[in-house]
Amino acid sequence: MSSKSGIFHKATEQKAFDTEHRRRITHSLDQYQISHEAGKEQFAKLPLARERAGFIRRKSLEGLDRYLIEWESHFKRNGGKVIWAQNAAEACEQILGILRKNHVTKVVKSKSMVSEEIGLNNYLKTNNIHSLETDLGEFIQQLDNEPPYHIVNPAMHKSKEDVAQLFQAKLNITSEAHAASLSEEARKHLRDEYIDAGAAITGANFLLADIGAISITENEGNARLCTSIPKVHIVIAGLEKILPSVNDLSLFLPLLATFGTGQKITAANSILTGPRRRNELDGPEEMYVILLDNGRTDLLAQVPQREALACIKCGACMNVCPVYKNIGGHSYDSTYPGPIGAVITPFMQDYNENIHLSYASTLCGACTAVCPVNIDLHKFLLYNRQKFMSETQPGQSDKLMWSVWKRSAMKRSFMNGGGGFKNFLVKYFFFHNWSKHRSVPKAAPKSFNEQWMSQRKPVKKVVSEDEE
Ligand code: SF4
Repeated sequence: MSSKSGIFHKATEQKAFDTEHRRRITHSLDQYQISHEAGKEQFAKLPLARERAGFIRRKSLEGLDRYLIEWESHFKRNGGKVIWAQNAAEACEQILGILRKNHVTKVVKSKSMVSEEIGLNNYLKTNNIHSLETDLGEFIQQLDNEPPYHIVNPAMHKSKEDVAQLFQAKLNITSEAHAASLSEEARKHLRDEYIDAGAAITGANFLLADIGAISITENEGNARLCTSIPKVHIVIAGLEKILPSVNDLSLFLPLLATFGTGQKITAANSILTGPRRRNELDGPEEMYVILLDNGRTDLLAQVPQREALACIKCGACMNVCPVYKNIGGHSYDSTYPGPIGAVITPFMQDYNENIHLSYASTLCGACTAVCPVNIDLHKFLLYNRQKFMSETQPGQSDKLMWSVWKRSAMKRSFMNGGGGFKNFLVKYFFFHNWSKHRSVPKAAPKSFNEQWMSQRKPVKKVVSEDEE
């Protein structure tokens, strides 16, 4: 068992039986479900929209080398600068270099899961650069010194009362525990920071190959302020984010909104083609895009799991996953939790340390059924398990368990035996993982075979006329 697997088991055990945590998550996800059902109605033919989106994302991955080069040449022609980073360390160093070159000591950030993936905030902090999250959910999580809980809704597990207390403790702000008042307080606190910051760091929802642009989708307008006011704008994006054409946004923006938050379209959608041009009033003087690999090409080498790179990070698979709903986002200890995280994290981080996540699924298929780009998530979880088992020598206790099972299952006398010994075996093998909070299932006093034999009516022999 890897060390992360042990930590995962402890965290899940604690969260799964935390009824208050479950109540909050269920409440948030119920709200999402209502909006999501309403949002879906904007699509005349949703299955066709999903099929088309899945096709475009797979086409983008198949032509990744070509589309990335096309995107880069257009973006550079527009005055942007592109940096290819192989891993988290390289990306962080490059960002620090840009900030140092521009004498920046304070940056504003809009929501970016890739920046979480590379541990950017901590890295900047150790290099004496203050990085301030401006998305409300991320701002709350940063204040509380916690990573995001969900890729779309980072503070989903916190109540309004929690946030009001946090603002009081960390910002000395007294506010009603009311969404509008809390947002207003956060807005007041953040507004001047955009003006003071020397640079902004954002993610990108999509890279648009044909016009060399990035697309950012958000609800609070904070990304727009980040990309309009500071002199330097640094975008950090995974290299799988490419879409062939700006025209594809007509499908992907409504799809991302409906599956991400249940909206028909998010409130602010920006397409940025480069730094500010002559005669333009807003925008940065310099714009950089860091294209991050960090394990993505390793995942691309996995067939068929590579298709998981088609993900548009809407978070819908987490919202329907019975495991996520019970153990919550933090238990996964991964930037990408839930079903999609369980598929990709082993390939994007240390494989042996993270493969246990592929077992955090009931394989019910709810994730696959909801995914807007039709990624076969539960099948890929099975492929991950199959890969792991084919490469791993079973431990002594596994060997013993399967040998006892095999011998027993092949003996009719044992299968027909009373429940006592069977109950003992089940209790012995499952007691530690199973029975602390639940009763161990009990074997029936009579096996199915015994019941069948005792209830079966004798078959009448059909006698032919000749025999008579
Ligand atoms: S795998 Fe599908 S459902 Fe899950 S986050 Fe990605 S696009 Fe959304």
